[in-house]
Amino acid sequence: MLDIQTIREDFPILSHQVYGKPLVYLDNAATTQKPRCVVEKIEKGYYNVNANIHRGVHFLSQEATEAHEEARQTVQRFLNARSSDEIVFTRGTTESINLVASSFTDECMSAGDEVILSVMEHHSNIVPWQIQAAKKGITIRVIPMNDRGELLLDEYKKLFTDRTRLVAVSHVSNVLGTVNPVKEIIAIAHEQGVPVLIDGAQSTPHMKVDVQDLDVEFYVFSGHKIYGPTGIGVLYGKEEWLDRLPPYQGGGEMISSVSFEKTVFGELPFKFEAGTPDFIGSTALAEALRYVDGLGMENIAAREQELLRYATDRLSAIDGIRIFGNAPEKGAVLSFLIGSIHHYDMGMLLDRLGIAVRTGHHCAQPLMQALGIEGTVRASFSFYNTKEEIDTLVEGIERVRKMF
Ligand code: PLP
Repeated sequence: MLDIQTIREDFPILSHQVYGKPLVYLDNAATTQKPRCVVEKIEKGYYNVNANIHRGVHFLSQEATEAHEEARQTVQRFLNARSSDEIVFTRGTTESINLVASSFTDECMSAGDEVILSVMEHHSNIVPWQIQAAKKGITIRVIPMNDRGELLLDEYKKLFTDRTRLVAVSHVSNVLGTVNPVKEIIAIAHEQGVPVLIDGAQSTPHMKVDVQDLDVEFYVFSGHKIYGPTGIGVLYGKEEWLDRLPPYQGGGEMISSVSFEKTVFGELPFKFEAGTPDFIGSTALAEALRYVDGLGMENIAAREQELLRYATDRLSAIDGIRIFGNAPEKGAVLSFLIGSIHHYDMGMLLDRLGIAVRTGHHCAQPLMQALGIEGTVRASFSFYNTKEEIDTLVEGIERVRKMF
């Protein structure tokens, strides 16, 4: 059991007021708030351990390098990767997917080859593939879903052809909350000899992820969604795959030797980390991972499921509500519309009551098209939210509903 009141004290922003009302922060799928220890790690990093890494012989540079490499090991343990060489620091999920999209298609795909995505992907797992498709003539195929927001695995199996080269799907939908059966999705792809990329932006903050158990080739996530800083994220890749792929960007740090005639690229993971990495961000991300590990991922998952059940019960009782995403396996996200009230109106009026929710297409326009809507209101929860905050949300929605 988590002591929520004590935990909330770790997050100073949660006791802020907006428009003279207590902040009710329900936009955790967009970004999470930061515990004190993460902010302090950044401050201490810049005050005490700030020197460029990997290239300096001096004391500070070595300390900073050690801290960065220790952070990599923390990520390795967090994902249960076999080796820290399999952990590449990036700017976030988006950059990690762009890296794979670019390097994988360069190495493994030619015109007419196919990649399988799902209908519920975030734009960051669609557009990078479209960019490659336009350059290289590859084709995108899409796994459909049912009315509850579950991917149709029988349809998925039918999408494989002898041109399928990669499957790339999200672990948890940022709109529907659906927890996709990624272990099964991966196993099905492997039966066809096809590697898989999983977008873990919405899973890693909420559940235990074990990349060896999943047997996944690529797994990506963002620091800022898991209580860490912005501008840092992770690409996990199986060593044999990272070894095989060409670098994404060129520059300092990623080489072993350079002459005008020939450059030899560096070893893993440095081959994929051109330029000065965010070595303060990596240590702050590691601090965030230690923080959630300290709370226990099982405790976090249990707490968030309790909040989701409570919110679903309370919101379901509101007249005229339509909730999008009713899969039995669901993360703590509630997307909804009330009658004909526009999602922006709802979001703006809730904001005036101090309630932060997200409105719009949530960077998932193809999913909105499949649902036949333009957008939704989305409340997304973290373990630090309370049932009282959900009550405030419900009262707010009722108030807005009566205004229309
Ligand atoms: N994938 C999913 C499922 C997301 O929810 C998000 C962000 O909302 C992203 C990818 C992109 O993450 P970032 O903007 O941190 O790169």
